[in-house]
Amino acid sequence: MQASILFEPGHPLEVEDVELAPPKEDEVVVRMAASGVCHSCLHTADGSWRGFPMPIVLGDEGAGVVEEVGSGVRNLKPGDHVVLSWAPTCGECHYCVTGRSQLCERVAPERGTLLDGTTRMTLKGKPVYHYGHVASYASYSVVPSGCAIPIRNDMPLEEAALIGCSVMTGVGAVMNTASVPPGASMAVFGVGGIGLNVVQGGSLVAAHPIIAVDINEKKLEYAQSLGASHGIDASQDDPVEAIWDITGRGADYAFIAVGEASVINQAWKCLAPGGVAVMIGLPPTGSTVTFDTGELQANERVLRGCKYGSAKVRDDFPRMVELYLAGRLKINELITNRYSLEEANEAFRSLAAGEVARGLIVF
Ligand SMILES: [Zn+2]
Ligand SMILES: [Zn+2]
Repeated sequence: MQASILFEPGHPLEVEDVELAPPKEDEVVVRMAASGVCHSCLHTADGSWRGFPMPIVLGDEGAGVVEEVGSGVRNLKPGDHVVLSWAPTCGECHYCVTGRSQLCERVAPERGTLLDGTTRMTLKGKPVYHYGHVASYASYSVVPSGCAIPIRNDMPLEEAALIGCSVMTGVGAVMNTASVPPGASMAVFGVGGIGLNVVQGGSLVAAHPIIAVDINEKKLEYAQSLGASHGIDASQDDPVEAIWDITGRGADYAFIAVGEASVINQAWKCLAPGGVAVMIGLPPTGSTVTFDTGELQANERVLRGCKYGSAKVRDDFPRMVELYLAGRLKINELITNRYSLEEANEAFRSLAAGEVARGLIVF
């Protein structure tokens, strides 16, 4: 099968014919229909996120059709349509049974492997690693059955792919992580693939105002089309001042959907007393932030992390599908560029240049 491989950070991906081993116990083979091009993969490809084994097949946002199931798989059969989750859920650990399956303890022992610590892909006899259990820049992938979430067969698979990372993370940050109530004010720092879905999540729960902050005019336009009431160009205006002007008492919620530590400080400073800052984007490995502890204590501000939109994927993926099919969740509008697998490098280039809302590799 064909896969786009990262051999070394900072170098272009290369499409190769890769050997795919059959699924082991509790694994399934998925024939990929489409894969979103996520900033996390770009962070890995450009070397700003470190610690991944190479060569690796990137891609954390895929959807496809189950081709084959390994022994012990009960909830899936060949032909099922699935959205891939990059966070496995065992359904049995402390976090799964307490409703926080995004923190499931049963993860791969080593980055780049499946749950048994090995890979199912080889190139000329050498292991090729899996990005985030999913490895969706490939025509087929073996994934843990807990990472293949069945969806309705009438959901278009290209649009379904985005549910696997950007839609779930962004919308989930609003609905699950922060539980933003109607009428609350929110600021969204960075309106790329994830941030646009934070905006859309705010729109779904009737937050107001929804203030988008970016340095890219095109992205601010996308944000307004997805429900942002205000757009602030941070290359022109100080976003903290602008957010205080718009809200009067600071933002009730601030979402950081960009991987830059300095932006965490901006989000912190724009918060109203009692406000909550939610960090979604991950700054480069080893980054730290400092902030005034008085504002934490006296103003009861909160800074919290958000993994995968705090998704309970088994419930939330089908919920996103229903919202899309009901016309409430916008996904077609997010897909601005389509690519073949061979064009993955161009997809990265246009993502880095801020030219796309979401790029999609279609198989
Ligand atoms: Zn992603
Ligand atoms: Zn678990």
